[in-house]
Amino acid sequence: MTTMPKPTSITADRKKAELTIVWEDGHESVYSFSLLRHACPCAECAGGHENMRRDPDPVVFYLPTEDSPRTHIKAIDPVGNYGINIIWEDGHHYGIYNWGYLRKLCPCEVCQREREAKGLVPDEETIAREIERRMNPPKPQLKMEFKL
Ligand SMILES: [Zn+2]
Ligand SMILES: [Zn+2]
Repeated sequence: MTTMPKPTSITADRKKAELTIVWEDGHESVYSFSLLRHACPCAECAGGHENMRRDPDPVVFYLPTEDSPRTHIKAIDPVGNYGINIIWEDGHHYGIYNWGYLRKLCPCEVCQREREAKGLVPDEETIAREIERRMNPPKPQLKMEFKL
């Protein structure tokens, strides 16, 4: 097994709503902000802690592009030397995108063909269900209040 390449540069462009990563092996990944939000790896977005994502869900590549506060990046913070944390305009900030995850999320044609070759293609029912689920996110269940 080869080790996962690390980024040599990360550039975010708010006008284009794109994040670009150049990897040490020369590969370049251009992610739409919308794709990054669809692929948020936090437990809440992945639908429960047991679903916390190590690999991107292939369905995220087939979801419609969204342009809303949910998909506008407010800030990006480095996390150690292994990833980034994205803070979104709607306040969501739980997703830690590590390098391995981001590399697997590369939407370029070459990487897309590799995913297809591995059979990572969702059927239409899965895509429809995922669109529905994302349009109606579950309300947070845990409410905590402290009166001290
Ligand atoms: Zn999330
Ligand atoms: Zn790629």
